Amino acid sequence: MNTQKLPHIVIVGAGFGGMEFARRLAHAPVQITLIDRHNYHLFQPLLYQIAIAGLVPSQIAYPIRTIFRKQKNLTFQMGEVNSIDLDSRYIRTNGSVIAYDYLVLAIGGQTNFFGLKTVEENGFQLKSIESATSTRNHLLKMFERASREVDPDQRKALLTFVVVGGGPTGVETAGALAELITCVITKDYPQMDLKDVRVLLLEATGSVMVTYPDELRKATINLLHHKKVEVLLNTKLIDYDGRRVTLGDGRQINAHTLIWTAGVRAAELADRLGAQQAASGRVRVAPTLQLPQHPEVFIIGDAAYFEDEHGQPLPMLATVAQQQAKATAQNFQNILKGESPEPFHYKDPGLLATIGRNAAVARIWGLSFSGFIAWVIWVVLHIYRLIGFRNRLVVLINWAWDYFFYDNQVRLITRE
Ligand SMILES: Cc1cc2nc3c(=O)[nH]c(=O)nc-3n(C[C@H](O)[C@H](O)[C@H](O)COP(=O)(O)OP(=O)(O)OC[C@H]3O[C@@H](n4cnc5c(N)ncnc54)[C@H](O)[C@@H]3O)c2cc1C
Repeated sequence: MNTQKLPHIVIVGAGFGGMEFARRLAHAPVQITLIDRHNYHLFQPLLYQIAIAGLVPSQIAYPIRTIFRKQKNLTFQMGEVNSIDLDSRYIRTNGSVIAYDYLVLAIGGQTNFFGLKTVEENGFQLKSIESATSTRNHLLKMFERASREVDPDQRKALLTFVVVGGGPTGVETAGALAELITCVITKDYPQMDLKDVRVLLLEATGSVMVTYPDELRKATINLLHHKKVEVLLNTKLIDYDGRRVTLGDGRQINAHTLIWTAGVRAAELADRLGAQQAASGRVRVAPTLQLPQHPEVFIIGDAAYFEDEHGQPLPMLATVAQQQAKATAQNFQNILKGESPEPFHYKDPGLLATIGRNAAVARIWGLSFSGFIAWVIWVVLHIYRLIGFRNRLVVLINWAWDYFFYDNQVRLITRE
């Protein structure tokens, strides 16, 4: 077979969208080059588990070359894509120039600090293995420092943990952190007085989990209170100097830890396309997920701005990225047969978030669940969605151990 004649598809990004798309074209008569700045696929929904010392990075990441070992029509290249020439149809990485017939951009997103420079400099975020690991190191260091601190005010500031953003990531992080402290850390530091510890969840609007139905928002707040998380609604953060959080109403909170989960925007490469961007820097795409004026370019996942039938932008979720990847792969099969691509329609699979042990909220098949049943659904689904049998098994054993022995195993402070 002469592969030279096959259409060359370049996929940028081996996250949820890029990987799903590439897999679905495994048997198509195309030549695929998959590019990512990392050599692994990262399961971002469990990043907070790295931060709270529940899992190690290798359990939620998987080497891309291993995933595609058997896919004969795909070549992987590790590299940073710096620029794209849409007219001449090539991309430039930090080591090469690659021409394409079709381009699929699945570049995902990055943390949006909304211009709050001091938060970006002094706060922590959960977007990569590196950022989650440094959050873990920092959290554990705070307990070490607090254990030898004699000044009570200083000790309280070391043990005050502020999570900003009442979306699923903020809720999951705050709940898991509170649980780490009450179930595990107190055993390691028997002298520690829990009265000195505060976990706060700050949310600028009047509710957590704004996209969830009312009953689940209320259930989330109850579950957070039960875990001893202080939820501050209608609370806007305006500054953080690494020691003190300043709120919009002038109040200040002494805290040595701030974890920012309040915003995501499209990855930076989206800004360099010269294409029309909407909110959060996402690129406006046609109903078929093609770039207007460049039908050979498809944009999927977090980087794409796509409105549903009610005119609402689709959320930045793995489920959206995967469904768009599936639809785009189907459209490629159509294009290869000389047919036109079909518009994309999102099927909402429901909502799911955990707030710690035995505590989660879920909306599935139009039904709302909270508490233990939702938590079991969350555990099963997340283990199932991990890549690699070994990762699934190890995570299952790890969680079972933590569950029965109240023990988060990865309490290591490592040098960065
Ligand atoms: C902490 C956290 C928790 C989340 N929890 C959930 C959840 O519970 N449920 C859910 O559905 N979604 C969740 N999400 C969102 C979900 O992870 C994203 O919606 C999903 O990853 C988007 O898929 P994607 O393919 O668009 O991008 P990603 O999966 O982010 O993949 C993008 C890839 O592109 C690569 N890349 C980007 N720019 C370049 C470049 N210039 N050169 C080379 N490579 C590049 C990146 O390295 C990355 O591998 C969570 C996200 C985070 C951060």
